[in-house]
Amino acid sequence: MDDLFYGINAIEFGKRFRCQADCQAYLYAIKWKNGYACKFCGCRDEIKGRTSFHRRCKDCRYDESVLCNTLFEGMRMSILKAFHLLFRTISKKKGMSSVELATEVGVQQKTAWKFKLKIKNAMVQQSQKKLEGSVQVDETLVGGYSKGNPGRSLETKSAVLLALEDLGDGKTGNIRMEVIEDFSADIIKIGIENMIAETATLKTDKFKSYLKIKKDGKDIETGLSNKGAFLDQLHKQIMCFKNWLRGTHHSCSAQYLQTYLDEYNFRFNRRNNRASIFNSIIFRFMNAVPKTYADLKAKCV
Ligand SMILES: [Zn+2]
Repeated sequence: MDDLFYGINAIEFGKRFRCQADCQAYLYAIKWKNGYACKFCGCRDEIKGRTSFHRRCKDCRYDESVLCNTLFEGMRMSILKAFHLLFRTISKKKGMSSVELATEVGVQQKTAWKFKLKIKNAMVQQSQKKLEGSVQVDETLVGGYSKGNPGRSLETKSAVLLALEDLGDGKTGNIRMEVIEDFSADIIKIGIENMIAETATLKTDKFKSYLKIKKDGKDIETGLSNKGAFLDQLHKQIMCFKNWLRGTHHSCSAQYLQTYLDEYNFRFNRRNNRASIFNSIIFRFMNAVPKTYADLKAKCV
């Protein structure tokens, strides 16, 4: 596992992954880094598999391909295209739309879109850590931009709760965002509990729902909104997120808004560690939830 690919250099990436075998060999080393064990019976002895990227159990004869039981399984594109699509998605600071990706890699837009959804799901699993310390909290509406209605109307928009670790001196830690049903105190309280550790201290504006949560005993420092100065780092992120959504993805339906929020959070929280994103997503894909033997047999043999 010493020769993992790190970095975001497209030329280096292209040199390293030129054909299907390059990608399969890469995944082979990751999948069986701890040696071979049959997924079905646990036997550690093997005989020759169907191809050099299969391993067959000596005992039960179950023949497993390198892609089997991973999120790369059953794709409608080659593993080479999937690698390049994945790399392009994660190496660009702001990501790419599925239309752009489809053109660059040479697949149908729907195929690119479906694969991106898998990448986003892998990103979600990594953005679930609760925020700690001093945390700025605010809410906003996303979608359906209507003139003269900047308030908290939910008619055509989705309600989103946001939280950002405030490290002092203008420095920020991790961010989390969650689609919520409405801006009532009960709903916001659940959102806060989902995203933020109980020991954290919250900073909010004086919106009535926060005042109610504070009255109920939560440790909250409430300041005047004052055009955003009190929660300035968080407001900056709200603007960045909306610009990113409009600029990269143009629009998104309410149904998928949470996956876009998760993608943004993942990118933001990894902003100082971008070179390792490729492998962290690959590892997620390789360690997908194991399936039943019936599934394995139906799909992989
Ligand atoms: Zn076996």
